[in-house]
Amino acid sequence: MINSGDHSELKHHFASDNYAGICSEAWQAMAEANSGLASSYGDDRWTAQACEKIREVFEKDCEVFFVFNGTAANSLALASLCQSYHSIVCHEMAHIETDECGATEFFSNGTKVLLVPGENGKIDLDAVEHTITKRSDIHYPKARALSITQATELGTLYSLDELQAIGELARKYNLRVHMDGARFANAVASMNVAPKEITWQAGVDVLTFGGTKNGFAVGEAVVFFNKELANEFDYRCKQAGQLASKMRFLTAPWIGMLDSGAWLRNAAHANSCARLLANEIKKIPQVRIMFESQANSVFLEMAPEALEALRAKGWHFYTFIGSGGARFMCSWDTRVEEVARLVADIKASVA
Ligand SMILES: *Cc1c(COP(=O)(O)O)cnc(C)c1O
Repeated sequence: MINSGDHSELKHHFASDNYAGICSEAWQAMAEANSGLASSYGDDRWTAQACEKIREVFEKDCEVFFVFNGTAANSLALASLCQSYHSIVCHEMAHIETDECGATEFFSNGTKVLLVPGENGKIDLDAVEHTITKRSDIHYPKARALSITQATELGTLYSLDELQAIGELARKYNLRVHMDGARFANAVASMNVAPKEITWQAGVDVLTFGGTKNGFAVGEAVVFFNKELANEFDYRCKQAGQLASKMRFLTAPWIGMLDSGAWLRNAAHANSCARLLANEIKKIPQVRIMFESQANSVFLEMAPEALEALRAKGWHFYTFIGSGGARFMCSWDTRVEEVARLVADIKASVA
């Protein structure tokens, strides 16, 4: 049966977009691929077609690979941009720094990750420039890559102008650009741009294109716009245990999701639920919205007792940002009524 929408297991969830199940388009595509035999390890027609669809989406002849999760996608992509004596610059709240258990350093054999601050989860370009120019001697790792997240970990977006400025800086210092697009679909849906505009046209060399949080069962695509950098990436995936033998079940959903437009519909729905939540919260004076909600999350600051009261009512959310800050994350299957219930409970909790 396709996701029944029965939320009884976890009634009140705004914890993460990976709490949601598999959307019908992804499920259907897997079911359709589930007939008869197919060659293994990606040598099948679904995988070929999924790569082709992704090239169409980006209007670019790019190299595409599929892995099981975002941590592998990010760290293997970054490892392919650097030697072990290089460094990668990213925001101090970047997922590769805070939530991937050092996988980037591990898979790159020790490439150093250097952190820069920046408001709203976005790297400050002056800080980047300072970090990569403050030393040029042989005793310090040589800056080689810049990693940005779109949409960011704080639910904000780099604008087109900001992305172009990042690309320019990267070119100036000969840095390669990686984009963590675990929520890339949310960015595209929110910005109403062509995917190429915020990726290769802005100077992105490789994109981690998220599927899981968008409604897939599992799987992320690694998209190399700079094809030279994809050299031997297939070996990296295999060695890291990221080459699926029944690849068709990872790749068929990409065909279904991109063909049907569900990837953008799902993202737009999640974004609009977050927007609705933010707009309702603006009417509650005791609660502060910490960052502009531009994708599918809303970060709220309220009294600790209010958060406790919400938890006691069964609401799930993360509070790992700052003191008193709570992240409410919407997904493709968030219900508008559930947003309304949350707002009502927040109102009651702060009263
Ligand atoms: C969820 C997420 C990932 C991927 O995480 P996995 O659990 O490894 O799939 C990567 N980057 C960001 C910004 C994320 O939110």
